[in-house]
Amino acid sequence: MSSTDPAPARTQTPGEVLLSATGLQKSFGSNMVLRSIDLTVCRGEVVALVGPSGSGKTTVLRSLNGLEVPDGGTVAFAGGPSVNFGGTVSGRELSALRDHSAMVFQQYNLFPHRTVLENVIEGPVQVQRRRRAEAVQDAEKLLDRVGLLEKKDQYPFELSGGQQQRVGIVRALALRPDLLLFDEPTSALDPELVGEVLKVIKDLAEEDWTMVIVTHELAFAREVADEVVFMDGGVVVERGHPDQVLRNPEHERTRRFVQRLL
Ligand code: ADP
Repeated sequence: MSSTDPAPARTQTPGEVLLSATGLQKSFGSNMVLRSIDLTVCRGEVVALVGPSGSGKTTVLRSLNGLEVPDGGTVAFAGGPSVNFGGTVSGRELSALRDHSAMVFQQYNLFPHRTVLENVIEGPVQVQRRRRAEAVQDAEKLLDRVGLLEKKDQYPFELSGGQQQRVGIVRALALRPDLLLFDEPTSALDPELVGEVLKVIKDLAEEDWTMVIVTHELAFAREVADEVVFMDGGVVVERGHPDQVLRNPEHERTRRFVQRLL
């Protein structure tokens, strides 16, 4: 990221562990969705979470920032909150987790009655209590970076899906999180709009943002991820370098999955 960019990740020491999740468990009724998930993410690292539909990927992602409350396990940020889901978890602990990461949703989740600019500054101004003028300045720089400054006064419905998702990404960046979480960011898009969103994410990866990305785009995962984690049935079946997991998997379940999608 250049020195003129407004929203660098708050701390930039590549290599050290930023996020550590251990033993995450979650059931919805009798459906045990996460059986004991461990995940470690280092600063500047891109982790792609892949696997069949229903394997628990989104639930892991949402657990990392307290949108979902696991039944057990821990989520800890270096120098930040450490939440043990085995006991009672306070709203304060959940919001501390949220303070360290920002989510980009599959369906963009923009406020429909607010302009692009208002969508982007909502979190910085209302939640982080930053000065409005400063938030606007940051937002405009970020929008410019993804080629959407001229759309700042338009409403989400006036934008294409790809443009809306780029606003979704800018909205997450504007929070200056340590960690960016992407939940199938391109799966709601028409095929011709996927590339523009993947390009933005790829640029962020090159700028050493720390990211966990749930995706079905295996070719993309192979290109940008430092580590691929393959989940099936609520467990991590296999993890490792993208070339190993996606091209030469050890496990039969992984092999079947990648053969279908690559
Ligand atoms: P993936 O992201 O791999 O497709 P999810 O984490 O979305 O998997 O879902 C895993 C399982 O948990 C699915 O069977 C899904 O139906 C179930 N599930 C997810 N969220 C809820 C919920 N809020 N209530 C009940 N079941 C849920």
